Amino acid sequence: MENRLPRRKFIQQMIIGSLSVPTLLELMTSSLLAITETPKQPIIWLQGQSSGIHRSGIWSYPGFHSYISEHFSILSADTPNLNSIALELSDRGKQHILILDGYFSDDLDDPINNLLKDLIVISRAVILLGNEAAYCSKKPEGFLNLETELLHLVETPFLKLPGNPVPIRHLVGSLNHMILYDFPKLDEHRRPVMFYSQRICERCQFRGDFEQGNFVRYFGQKEGCLYWLGCKGPITRNSCAIEKWNGTSTWCVSAGSPCTGCSEPDYPDNNGLGLFGQISSESAPINSFFIRNSSTLAQGAFAVTVSGVAIHAISRKTSSSLKDESYFNISEDENV
Ligand code: SF4
Ligand code: SF4
Repeated sequence: MENRLPRRKFIQQMIIGSLSVPTLLELMTSSLLAITETPKQPIIWLQGQSSGIHRSGIWSYPGFHSYISEHFSILSADTPNLNSIALELSDRGKQHILILDGYFSDDLDDPINNLLKDLIVISRAVILLGNEAAYCSKKPEGFLNLETELLHLVETPFLKLPGNPVPIRHLVGSLNHMILYDFPKLDEHRRPVMFYSQRICERCQFRGDFEQGNFVRYFGQKEGCLYWLGCKGPITRNSCAIEKWNGTSTWCVSAGSPCTGCSEPDYPDNNGLGLFGQISSESAPINSFFIRNSSTLAQGAFAVTVSGVAIHAISRKTSSSLKDESYFNISEDENV
């Protein structure tokens, strides 16, 4: 294809976040139009059981719906004659990309269960979209582990786009890479490295606060690193800090919520820490004096907090005894 963006530059721009979703959609359009023998890249998007969180964010992105219906053939589990369409696709060779989104039944009588293995075998590549499909080792009973029960048994390449939700840029960027170049390079969890190579902390707006030990201590406190509130930024790889939510200017950390590690395989358990448990300084590979010494600092802060609470309690007791001793007397001070 002539005048196309060199692959190296494309990847660099994906990593630094300079290729917006509208630009990626344009890139795909021009590359698809240049492939005269296959005017439409067939995609089969099979939707299993899921909260639908990925679909709603992706499909409601301005322009995505019209773009995709113009340039792709989308099938779903509800598509009439799905079996015969799949048969027709297999005659055309490995052209289509299969997107699996959600949990799929392990019941052999389920029509999609019957079709899945055949569809995977005849696909050019498979994308496991969202945590249900990507990390289905944690599936509820009655559903397939797509990776071990199907994908490991065939040669079709597959990648994972985890996250809760999956950013649209990850999907459009991966499709672009497959159409413009080849299969993208993956990390140890089969995630494209162009999106999942850097830890959240590395590009977080509060990285300076992290280094300087400027930590917020309670939810709602503004401007500061959320490490003490259980932020999993030091151990989570994703591009949220540059990509933000749906092309807007905000994302979890900037909205005051610690990163909960939603794109990592052990989410939401996070090795027993849950969503808001603080990771230890040993498991935070980002080098920072304050993190390395966080247990000592935390103990110091705890001691300071305990004394603060004690002093506050004594002063309140004194002041309330000067008033009326009511336990339900809310002072202005408590509303702060
Ligand atoms: S710990 Fe969280 S808030 Fe602090 S720098 Fe890392 S990602 Fe940002
Ligand atoms: S900041 Fe963390 S929790 Fe939020 S979307 Fe990114 S990876 Fe998920």
